[in-house]
Amino acid sequence: MKRMNDDSSTNPGRVDLVGAGPGDPDLVTLKAARLIQSAEVVVYDNLVGDAILDLIPPKVERIYVGKSAGNHTLPQEEICALLVEKAKEGKRVVRLKGGDPFVFGRGGEEIDVLIDAGIPVGIVPGVTAALGAAASFGFPLTHRDYAQSCVFVTGHLKDDSVDLNWPMLAQARQTVVIYMGIIGVEIVSARLQEAGLPGDTPAALVYRATCPDEKLFPATVATLPKVVQEEAVKSPTLIVIGQVLKLAVSGDGRQETGDRAASGIRNQIG
Ligand code: SAH
Repeated sequence: MKRMNDDSSTNPGRVDLVGAGPGDPDLVTLKAARLIQSAEVVVYDNLVGDAILDLIPPKVERIYVGKSAGNHTLPQEEICALLVEKAKEGKRVVRLKGGDPFVFGRGGEEIDVLIDAGIPVGIVPGVTAALGAAASFGFPLTHRDYAQSCVFVTGHLKDDSVDLNWPMLAQARQTVVIYMGIIGVEIVSARLQEAGLPGDTPAALVYRATCPDEKLFPATVATLPKVVQEEAVKSPTLIVIGQVLKLAVSGDGRQETGDRAASGIRNQIG
């Protein structure tokens, strides 16, 4: 992806926006791994864990620009400026992002700035957290009997409220995955019930999906806030809602028994 007037014939500088997946280094794509190996600079944030950072060769410059809610290490404009600066120095830059760069990753904003600056850009998709969570805990996101659609939304608070299309999210036969939803969990639970979703609809909080310490906390739409509080659930966590959670299993249970029905998690949900 480049503009007509870029100077890539003389300057090899470029930026690749690369999805690192949800945490398990085995879920990094071959293309991402190849670009990481040949990069001169890797710019990453806090969703990219140590297991992934271990893939970066020691000679590569690493720049941390991590953000956690309300605590911006580097404002987005400065991250963009840094990417432009490094590419203009002629560096091959990998902008490494958790999950997929175009799923709640602000990849769209970074790419605009880079293209405007005439810098060649590539995009490498990654396994987004929802797919990692579904695979780790064995619940399909769609299923002929339970869910004909699946929606990914952000629960990120703007002006102290979560502004979502609640009637659309409260529909039956649908799986809803909420990214960045922990802080707004009370609003999510209350608004969905007001919009008609039964309080006993299966729900779950999936913490650090695909990482060694991943955990699924079973809940219902009504009990989500209580579970977050009692279990002190922290970020990064997805809120998942829908009947498909009745099929959830723990990875260990699956490996040991090969039988979903034997799983403790499945019995706790729904
Ligand atoms: N681009 C990322 C999402 C970034 S938004 C992706 O495609 O996955 C950040 C939110 O993603 C977190 O607040 C959390 O809700 C979710 N998230 C990212 N990695 C996660 C993981 N391993 N387990 C659970 N949730 C995760």
